[in-house]
Amino acid sequence: MSSPAENLTTVLARIRQAEGRFQRPPGSVTLLAVSKGQPTESIAAIAAAGQRCFGESYLQEALPKQESLRQFDLEWHFIGPIQANKTRGIATHFNWVHSVDRLKIAQRLSEQRPPQLPPLNVCLEVNISQESSKHGLSPAELQAVAGAVAGLPRLRLRGLMAVPAPCEEFTAQRRQLARLRALQEELIAAGLDLDTLSMGMSADLEAAIAEGATLVRVGTAIFGPRT
Ligand SMILES: *Cc1c(COP(=O)(O)O)cnc(C)c1O
Repeated sequence: MSSPAENLTTVLARIRQAEGRFQRPPGSVTLLAVSKGQPTESIAAIAAAGQRCFGESYLQEALPKQESLRQFDLEWHFIGPIQANKTRGIATHFNWVHSVDRLKIAQRLSEQRPPQLPPLNVCLEVNISQESSKHGLSPAELQAVAGAVAGLPRLRLRGLMAVPAPCEEFTAQRRQLARLRALQEELIAAGLDLDTLSMGMSADLEAAIAEGATLVRVGTAIFGPRT
């Protein structure tokens, strides 16, 4: 089995190749390494190889990892479900939150973002697959919530995030991801200043880049299966 550092090289090559193939500017897609369920040593190995942005889904798991990786000056992105009693910890210990799916959670994050830190970067999670089990705002409620979140003083609304229903076929992947891009374009047309489309994982990052992803969230293709 190849090491996380070797896999990182492979994933970065996939991203650069997809940028070329789909006429995206070189370097326009950021790699978020999803390190939930992975040991600190694996994170340190790819941090030493130059990876800077990491995604975690559980606050309690993330805090000790962040503490033991202090020397690397990493950028931490929260991508998991957010319980109201975790917002203070998330607002204090993360640079980004991708999984905001209720106005109440956004309000708490804004109120609890420490004053000495810059505004917290947030994406709104959208349920583009219309599965009742999935998290995320419905497309119908998105515009009103986005307008309200954009007005919160200690947050900076950067864009949208989605976790589509798994599917293997490239054209079908693209069709789902195109919905998130269309929703983002509607918000921009309505006057919001958004620059981040957070979509694409290990299995669909090429389709996501074809549809305009600016950040792909990749776990298993770098680290292998989670424990
Ligand atoms: C776990 C996770 C990922 C990474 O998924 P892989 O299939 O391991 O690449 C991406 N986004 C979110 C929101 C996740 O929870």
